[in-house]
This record gives sequence, C-alpha cells and structure tokens, in this order.
Amino acid sequence: NAQMRYEWSREVCAVLRNVFKLPGFRHNQLEAINATLAGKDVFVLMPTGGGKSLCYQLPALVYGGKTKGTTIVISPLISLMQDQVEHLLEKGIKAAMVSSRGDAGERRNTFQQLKSGDLSLLYVSPEMLTTNSQLRNVISSLYHRDCLARIVIDEAHCVSSWGHDFRPDYKQLGQFKKDYPNVPLMALTATANERVRLDVGFNLNITGCALFTQSFNRPNLYYEVRDKQRDVLAEIKELMKVKYPGKSGIIYCHSKNSCEETATKLNRLGLKVTYYHAGMDPEERLQVQIGWQEGRYQAICATVAFGMGIDKADVRFVVHYTLPRNLEGYYQETGRAGRDGLPSECILYYAYRDATSIMTMIDRDKDIDYDTKEKQRTFLKQVLQYCENQTDCRRHQVLQYFNEKFDSKDCHNQCDNCRIATVCEFETRDITGITKNIIRTILAIQDDNVTMLHCMDVFRGAKTAKIQGAGHNSVPGYAAGKDVERTDMERIFHHLVAQSILKESAIVNKSGYASSYLRAGSRAVGLLSGNEKLTLTFLKNGAAKKSKPLPK
Ligand code: ADP
Ligand code: ZN
Repeated sequence: NAQMRYEWSREVCAVLRNVFKLPGFRHNQLEAINATLAGKDVFVLMPTGGGKSLCYQLPALVYGGKTKGTTIVISPLISLMQDQVEHLLEKGIKAAMVSSRGDAGERRNTFQQLKSGDLSLLYVSPEMLTTNSQLRNVISSLYHRDCLARIVIDEAHCVSSWGHDFRPDYKQLGQFKKDYPNVPLMALTATANERVRLDVGFNLNITGCALFTQSFNRPNLYYEVRDKQRDVLAEIKELMKVKYPGKSGIIYCHSKNSCEETATKLNRLGLKVTYYHAGMDPEERLQVQIGWQEGRYQAICATVAFGMGIDKADVRFVVHYTLPRNLEGYYQETGRAGRDGLPSECILYYAYRDATSIMTMIDRDKDIDYDTKEKQRTFLKQVLQYCENQTDCRRHQVLQYFNEKFDSKDCHNQCDNCRIATVCEFETRDITGITKNIIRTILAIQDDNVTMLHCMDVFRGAKTAKIQGAGHNSVPGYAAGKDVERTDMERIFHHLVAQSILKESAIVNKSGYASSYLRAGSRAVGLLSGNEKLTLTFLKNGAAKKSKPLPK
C-alpha cells in the first residue's frame, strides 16, 4: 500500500480520520504532508478551496516524523487566522494566535503556553514578527530546545513584489531559513505564476524545495466577457431570477459607492441583494456575510476585499461589474464560484473606460512608488488584453498567465470565445500599416494633450471645429483611417494600449481635474522604424456577440 510507505503513515491516516474526520486526501495533500514530515522544504500551489490548510495542520499533530514541537504559521489576515484557530480548537487541537488585536495579558498567556510546549500550532501575523521581539525570542528558544516543528508561510505570494498582493512585512520571512536551517519550511499559495513562484522560493531561501502543483483549470466554471453597454442590471436580474433562482452569487463592484448603488438598484428590481465593503463596521459586515451565507440575501455587491476565507461552496455566479486590476485577482475572485464542483458562471462586464479610470487612479496614487505603478500598469494591460480578445479560449488565456499549457478543446465550449467559434468565423488581419499611421498621428498631436477619442477622430479624418481649430487636419496620419470601421478602430486602439504602443496618462489641470491623455507608448518608435508585423483577430460577424445571447 503506497499510503503506508513511511514510519508515520499509520499516524497520518489516524489523524485524518479521527481528528479531521475526513475520508481521504485530495490531490497532493498526502504528498505535501509526507514531504514536510520527511523534513523537506515544501512549496504547495493549490487553487482556492483545494485544501491547503490540511497540508500543515495535519502534520502539526504527527510526531512520528522527523519533527516534533510547535508549528508556526504566518498568515496575513487576522480574521482568517481567528477562524482557523477557532476551527482547530473545536477539533480539540491546541492552537493560538498572536496578532496586534490581542491585549498584553492574552499575549503573555499565549507565550507561556508556547514556552511550555503546550501548543501544536501558533498563528502569527508578519507584522508581529517585525515588531515583537519577545515573540522572536520565544521562537528562538523553541528552536534551541529542538521544539520548533516547522514554519508555515500561508499566502506565500505576498513575499513577491511580482505578485498582486505584495506585503513588505513578508520580505523578512527569508530570515527563517537562515536562522533555522534545519527546520522545514512550507510555503502555500493559490495564485502564483512561475515568475512569482521563483521569486517566492528565492526570497524564502528554499530554492531547492519540493514543489507540489496542479492544474489551475476549474472545469465547472463558465467564463464570459460581456460588453458593459448591454443592460447589465436586467441581465443580472435574469441570471438571479430565471437561471439561478434561490442560488447565491457575488457581484464585484469597484468602490464602496458603487456597491451600495448597485445593491439599491437591484433591490428596486425586486431582488434580495445587499452590499459589503471596507467602509462598514466589522459587526455590520459580519451580519451581512452571515445573511448571505445563510441565503437571506441572494447576492452581495462587494469590493474585492470580500470573499477571502469565506467557505461557501455553492456560489453559482460571480459577476464583475467592474474591471479587475489583474488576472491573478480575477482568477481568485471567479474561483469563489462553484467550489462544490457544480456548474457555475463568471461574467465580466467590460467597458474600456473602466481601464482608463483605473489607469488614472494608478497614476495619481501618492502612496506607491514608480516601480509599483509600472507593475500595476502591466497587470492592467494584461486584463485589457484578456477583455479585448474575442477569439481565444478564456481558459487558455487565464491558464497561460499561470504558465500552464491548456488545449482549448478541453474547454468543451465552457467560455464565450469557444462558443462564438461554433457559429462565427474569425479572420486575422495585418494591422501593421494602420498601426504605423496611428503612431504617426499621435506623435504629431500628442503635445497638444489629446484624448483617445480626439485621436480617433483625427485618424478617421473628422472635420470638427476642434480639429480644425487645433490645425490637426493637416498633420501626418490625418484621415489615414477613413476606411476603418468605427468598432474595429476602437478595438485596434485598445489593443495598442494593451501592447504598450499607445498609452494613456493622467494629467491634472489647475482646477485639480484629472484627464487622461493619449501618448505614444514605449514600443511606438521602434515599431514605426522596424519590421515587426502586428496582427489582430476579428470576428467576421462582429455584431453577433454584442447583441445576441451566445449559443450553448
Ligand atoms: P484552501 O486554503 O486551499 O482554500 P481550505 O484548506 O480552506 O482550502 O479547504 C477548503 C475546504 O475543503 C474546507 O472546507 C476543508 O474542510 C475541505 N477539505 C480539505 N481537505 C479535504 C479532504 N481531504 N477531504 C474533504 N474535504 C477537504
Ligand atoms: Zn474556451
């Protein structure tokens, strides 16, 4: 029996059954558990809901391995830690947490338990490690008494500044492997592309670790990007009343205000919807969350903060009423649908102007440095690319972002682009010539601070007073695009922004009002003088997707 290979195997199975009351392991759980019990450093990549916690909670209770003592778990979210500790205590497992929330008395108590070897698991927030030297001393003394079983770093992508959720307090966690080289380390995350993964391994000093990864494909989720010009509220109503009556969903909105507004509008349509955002007090938020989990509200309009650590398996739809800021976040948010494995859908309502406003927010953000802004812009352009793409399988695109190869025939038409391919033909056009003319146009007029709309007008050869007044009717590129269809031209412009051939930047005028102006992007000049070819795939019947529902 392969499960009985190790001296600790019997104990592992007993703990699974008797303490966690589970019938068996999920993919990679046992493998990760065996590796850490054998003393190896381990990196676990599992999609949300895959069962990461068991990978370190179970070995914390097994003493037949090469380790004994307390497992230290570093986790970024206090509410999550609290949840986990409560669940563990309910199972009779000795667990505690140290965070900024507890008072000095509680903390002293916890340290006492820790010193006397009374705890199987201790959860700590990364900032506690930075600020609390007593905590560091207790951990060190555990180590010197050979009672530090392992170090666990949950949400490990926070270590990487290439991730979507970098946290500076995580950087110092690399010190663990230097201070305690013999203590096995386990890093876990749901969202790491290869670049982030390498970065995490490097920062934590576990580059030679055992890696457990799996496909990030979620076969039961249907993905679709819809034009936001459609009647979104009516479509949401249809989704909730006709398609999923009595079933739960999440509607992601971009701000506190839009959460409240959207919820109110949906209420007026007779739907049981509420909202959830960071501006509410914790008690109110908890009530809303419970109301939704128990089905008193069918859907919740929430900012992206909602959903982390919420264990609701039967979420049938996730709607993005706003553009996600990065694909990793998008994957994680949509991943909250269908954790029970039943068919569920993820619909993103896309309007290019949402990208412009996020770009403006990034430009204007005073709290982040230039490098971070550049990264956020890159992430946003990837989202833009995803939304503008009308022909490639959505799964293929998302999984490619995680460096996973996915053959679109395995999608089984569970995305809009695969479905549209069954009724529409595609054509790939060479857009090099058009692009060069667009670059010539923007280079000629960008010093006058023009919007994308204005640039399109110039390129189309419009004869507006504004164009004539500025003398833009005599610049190179004027009217070069007079034969290009309006919708095609919009797509080309958006595509060129996503490709860094054009860019939009926010400029704040004297009265403090920010506008977004179009500029030549970093690749523009090179493209103009070089031989690089640019192509873009179009639907032969472009209107089909916008107006009609997709074929099943
Ligand atoms: P993650 O942290 O990867 O999002 P969790 O550790 O929170 O996932 O686990 C998600 C859910 O799956 C939990 O409800 C958990 O009890 C359940 N689960 C984990 N492992 C197993 C298993 N081997 N068998 C059945 N259910 C499991
Ligand atoms: Zn597909």
